[in-house]
Amino acid sequence: MSDGGARTTRRGILFVVSAPSGGGKTTLVKAALETDPELSLSVSLTTRQPRVGELDGRDYFFVSAEEFNRRRAAGEFAEWAEVFDHAYATPRGPLEDSIENGRDVLLDVDIQGARALKKLYAGDAVGIFVVPPNFAALEARLRARGTDSEEQIARRLQRVRTEMSATAETDVYDYRIINEDRDRAASEIRTILAAERLRLTRVPDPTLD
Ligand code: 5GP
Repeated sequence: MSDGGARTTRRGILFVVSAPSGGGKTTLVKAALETDPELSLSVSLTTRQPRVGELDGRDYFFVSAEEFNRRRAAGEFAEWAEVFDHAYATPRGPLEDSIENGRDVLLDVDIQGARALKKLYAGDAVGIFVVPPNFAALEARLRARGTDSEEQIARRLQRVRTEMSATAETDVYDYRIINEDRDRAASEIRTILAAERLRLTRVPDPTLD
């Protein structure tokens, strides 16, 4: 079968990663991006202030509430959600461009975001839930990060209790990574990427050529 000389690549895959706060997701996401040149990060917009070391346009697009609302009203977002008093959104344009052009994308979003993206891009999205091995490990990780006040930590921990139940949402999440050992978790995420890229639906059938 001829492809007419047109596109020969498959569609891009959206790897949607979520985790309870402090689940060690950020480190894992960074490791995946560093070791996989075929993968890019979907950079979200947020109304929160940048943390030390974060760069505008790399980690997030840091915008005012006014700009966020304007762009939301203009239909620029694939999904958006309020998390800890701030708004976060996934820009739609670059995401759909990546899918159409066969570029795989990693998205670091909360559970609301994962639900929305899995619904909107069914067939193209893969949900991965990263969980800490236990509650004590999570609390220790939040403190070690040193970016949140005691009050913020308490709120995050409370939220985690609710969030953990989302791991049972099998229509949203396809994989669960227990983040006990950083290297092992990083290797598991690479395994998921590799397996998803080898799905029958994503690999051209050589007998058709
Ligand atoms: P942080 O402020 O710690 O970077 O992120 C807080 C939470 O917001 C994390 O769970 C993160 O995954 C989530 N988040 C970041 N960007 C987005 C987004 O575009 N959409 C949604 N729904 N959640 C996001």
